[in-house]
Amino acid sequence: MRIDGPKFIGNALCLDFVNTLTWRGTPWPHDYLRGYGDLVDWSRRAGLLDEGEAAELHKKAGKDRRRGDTVLGVARELREAIHGLITSAARGKGHAAADIAALNRVLAKAPRRHGLAKGERGFVWKLSERPRTLDAMLFPIAESAGETLVAAEAARLKSCASPQCGWVFLDTTRGNRRRWCDMADCGNRVKARRHYLKAHTPPEKRR
Ligand SMILES: [Zn+2]
Repeated sequence: MRIDGPKFIGNALCLDFVNTLTWRGTPWPHDYLRGYGDLVDWSRRAGLLDEGEAAELHKKAGKDRRRGDTVLGVARELREAIHGLITSAARGKGHAAADIAALNRVLAKAPRRHGLAKGERGFVWKLSERPRTLDAMLFPIAESAGETLVAAEAARLKSCASPQCGWVFLDTTRGNRRRWCDMADCGNRVKARRHYLKAHTPPEKRR
């Protein structure tokens, strides 16, 4: 089980955010976001905050723990809404109205975009102001979800082939054949288990 911070394997910010909860298909899911500070640290790793901004948010949250807890609650709700929307889109099923509403509540508070600018790695949105509130990281995550749902081909939105894992990703391979969140990790673990079961099953019971 990974406990030292989730890998970024989703190919979209919003999908990596969904993957901060892992082992969804088991009775013992693991949440990397156990406190507001974890949300700040993850956002820093995801490139949503620079070091100074992360330090500022840690400090602010230290002074207002209740607000930090509230934002963490909103973040988890947003995460489940994105998970619901992405997986229903992937399966070609209808979405839950509550999931759209939860996403829209965050989008409604997002800072206004004032146009495009050239960033270090391609184009970026110019914002009216960079929010410095405790929920600052939720806006780009919600926007990523909106953009992914609008633009991504449903056939490329996938859940890991391990039903226990539950991680989601955008398949950007040429043949659209990616099945695992991370073959080197999850895929091999499942293969090893299959091998083990086969080796320990009497021949008459093998299929
Ligand atoms: Zn997996």
